[in-house]
Amino acid sequence: MDKVIIIGGGAAGMMAGIVLAEKGYKPIIVEKNERLGKKLFITGKGRCNLTNFCDDETFFENIVTNSKFLYSCYDNFKTNDTIDYFENLGLRIKVERGGRVFPVSDHSSDVISVLATKLKRLGVEILYNSVVTDIITEDYSIEDESKFTSIVKGIEYLDEFNKKRTIETNYIVVATGGLSYPLTGSTGDGIKWAQNMGLKIIDPKPALVPMEIKEDFCRELMGLSLKNISLSFIAKVKGKDKQVYNSFGEMLFTHFGISGPVVLSASSYLTKYINEGFRARLDLKPALSYEQLNDRILRDFSNSLNKQFRNSLDNLLPKKLIPVIINLAQIDPYKKVNEITKEERNKLVEIIKCLEMNVSGFRDFNEAIITQGGVSVKEINPKNMECKSIKGLRFIGEVLDVDALTGGFNLQIAWSTAMALD
Ligand SMILES: Cc1cc2nc3c(=O)[nH]c(=O)nc-3n(C[C@H](O)[C@H](O)[C@H](O)COP(=O)(O)OP(=O)(O)OC[C@H]3O[C@@H](n4cnc5c(N)ncnc54)[C@H](O)[C@@H]3O)c2cc1C
Repeated sequence: MDKVIIIGGGAAGMMAGIVLAEKGYKPIIVEKNERLGKKLFITGKGRCNLTNFCDDETFFENIVTNSKFLYSCYDNFKTNDTIDYFENLGLRIKVERGGRVFPVSDHSSDVISVLATKLKRLGVEILYNSVVTDIITEDYSIEDESKFTSIVKGIEYLDEFNKKRTIETNYIVVATGGLSYPLTGSTGDGIKWAQNMGLKIIDPKPALVPMEIKEDFCRELMGLSLKNISLSFIAKVKGKDKQVYNSFGEMLFTHFGISGPVVLSASSYLTKYINEGFRARLDLKPALSYEQLNDRILRDFSNSLNKQFRNSLDNLLPKKLIPVIINLAQIDPYKKVNEITKEERNKLVEIIKCLEMNVSGFRDFNEAIITQGGVSVKEINPKNMECKSIKGLRFIGEVLDVDALTGGFNLQIAWSTAMALD
């Protein structure tokens, strides 16, 4: 039986172990942690959103980077195949809002457990507490396979007793993940090896990540969660201000800036603008036009003409937001409502419809759900994930320059790329 080394026992690595054992190989998973699926364990807030129940179009709409590269492997193993596959492994599945698929138990540990049980049944060897330090390659020059410049020969690793060891093989699967949440073991090792082997790397960046905001008022709003808001982002493109992203939904203020679903998704599309900095524009009342909001405020004011201004916005805005908005509108909070001028009211409307914040940066990999960048897909054959220039070397999962939005799509990438191995 041909020996295969799978580096990394995360989502992609575990699936690879099963797929290759079923194809008759003898896979050995080498995992630096003491257990499998440490990141998988924390996915979906511990519930593991393992895929999305959606059609092909929706799947590809949710892929942020290099969706075309995934056509072939996705066609071979789609989201509904994932659902069937896990059900056949004995996992009971449920579908929630937005097609998000979870185990009925709400325990990610059950997802890990069905995969681990299958690996055991298939006799897949797992080396725990074993850190791969290098991939060994050799020059390769067989004329009818001239596309390959080298061939893999094996790996070097430190075993559980920190003893240096090697395993020889001509088939290596790199499933080491990206760089996000490094405490789970994903520290970008596969990307470093690929770079050392001369493969093209797309600079890894944190994505699906909260944003830091310069303005101090964010800290005053810490913990405030807003629903039904519209958030757009304005960046300088060719020297001119341009709206580069807009979405509607939920966001959250934190001690450093902004987070929540709309912000995380936006971050994945904005990594290229981060060096120059850009602005976020918050519309707190997207369902109302400027005129409608003005009318609404006039109606509210008419019911509280003798109240202090600061006590007149309770029906319009969350309590925590009121002093911040009043301050930004530069209106005296103690002024009587009947003394508010038209200009002041216009300013108030303007702030509520267009609250600007300067984004000074993204949070780092410790808080990023996903890594954008990694091994360039140009280096990889999309049919079987083999490196085009190094025979026997495969890359699957997040180590590749592919990433998606939240909703189960990133794990689907891990499953589909693993299933493509031949
Ligand atoms: C907080 C959080 C929540 C998430 N929730 C979801 C979700 O609900 N749904 C979803 O679709 N996606 C989610 N994701 C993204 C998803 O977890 C990843 O895309 C997915 O785990 C990638 O799988 P992978 O196997 O490629 O890499 P990983 O899961 O990162 O696995 C890589 C493995 O390789 C091992 N390894 C690394 N280097 C070495 C080495 N040198 N030697 C030996 N072993 C090594 C690591 O220890 C690790 O176990 C979430 C991510 C985070 C951080």
